[in-house]
Amino acid sequence: MKIQHIKTKLYQWQGPVKTSDTIFATPLSLLPFQQDAQAPFRFFSWLVVEIETEDGVVGIGNAGLCPDITKQIIDTKLAPLLLHENALNTEYLYEKMYRSSIAYGRKGAVLAAISALDIALWDIKGKVLQQPVFVLLGGRTKEAIPAYYSRLYTRDLDSLQQEAAEYKTQGFKGMKLRCGYPITEGLTGMKKNVEMVRVVRETVGDDVDVMVEAYMGFNLAYAKRFLHALEPYQPRWVEELLIPDEIHNFAKLRQYTDIPISSGEHEYTRYGFHDLLQAQALDIFQFDTNRVGGFTEAQKICIMAQVHGVEVIPHGGQMHNLHVVMSSFACPMAEYFPQTDIEVGNEMFWYIFDGEAIADDGKLQLDDRKPGVGLTLKNDHLENFNIIE
Ligand SMILES: [Mg+2]
Repeated sequence: MKIQHIKTKLYQWQGPVKTSDTIFATPLSLLPFQQDAQAPFRFFSWLVVEIETEDGVVGIGNAGLCPDITKQIIDTKLAPLLLHENALNTEYLYEKMYRSSIAYGRKGAVLAAISALDIALWDIKGKVLQQPVFVLLGGRTKEAIPAYYSRLYTRDLDSLQQEAAEYKTQGFKGMKLRCGYPITEGLTGMKKNVEMVRVVRETVGDDVDVMVEAYMGFNLAYAKRFLHALEPYQPRWVEELLIPDEIHNFAKLRQYTDIPISSGEHEYTRYGFHDLLQAQALDIFQFDTNRVGGFTEAQKICIMAQVHGVEVIPHGGQMHNLHVVMSSFACPMAEYFPQTDIEVGNEMFWYIFDGEAIADDGKLQLDDRKPGVGLTLKNDHLENFNIIE
């Protein structure tokens, strides 16, 4: 099962982008002189990697994190390490890529590149063994995957209420809203953020989880006051209150509040999550399998998390995360970015792949008979993309 060929494709979106009501805090919101603090966090391209074996089996992987750089890392650094190796030796190949790139890697774009390749290798393994990846990772731990609806981008309270009511009617038992007001708007902005949470909680009642996303936009002092003000509305969690490097301050927040604290979509590898466990910094890990190190690393982090009583609820829906959620008791649910017009970038995978799970009555299902990850590349309606090979 030798690897014969590795091909990367950069999908650049050229079609229309909806920008009207997608406002939320970001790490830049704390700085002065910001006209558009969201700009660096919108991404309108995606990377696809295809690994082909000499027997003609093709595995598909993907990366959404700075795909143009990720493509170069794969093409120039990582692909040569994999050529002529046995594609089924995923443990060895992960370690070979990780250790070979350690001087300039360990996190960020290099790990996104390693993750994309690892996902493609597991896709090959599944196709060779004629089993879905979740079966190879440990099999089914739940009948179906409960999904929480990840949108509610608007700051308008009436629209927020309407949207929340609609998702509840669709059968979702959880939904996440964004903090629409940056830290620079002070106490007034904080009260408006709390008001948004109040409206959603009062709309959906107590039987639906409400999650709050801060997207690294706050600091410790603001986060403490915000958490205190949120207590009456009992969020299921508050996400990424701080930048990922502030592990020590996440730990302080956990001591300060009973509201579960989540983060991790910008953390990498078992070593990054080990540091978070050592510091007792989080209640919920939110790695994305296509950033954290692929399936090879994700399954290890799930086991570590389970030992420490930490939940794993990966960032983003997408099949690579759903296989992890299905196969681990550490994972109670999955995030669900529905198919919409292109808005932030998270939605783009719907336009590139066929085979993504679509929520039904708030749940996602995986096919027991579909081998590998279960995705194929779309061949038609690609006119909105510039594809660079
Ligand atoms: Mg998030």
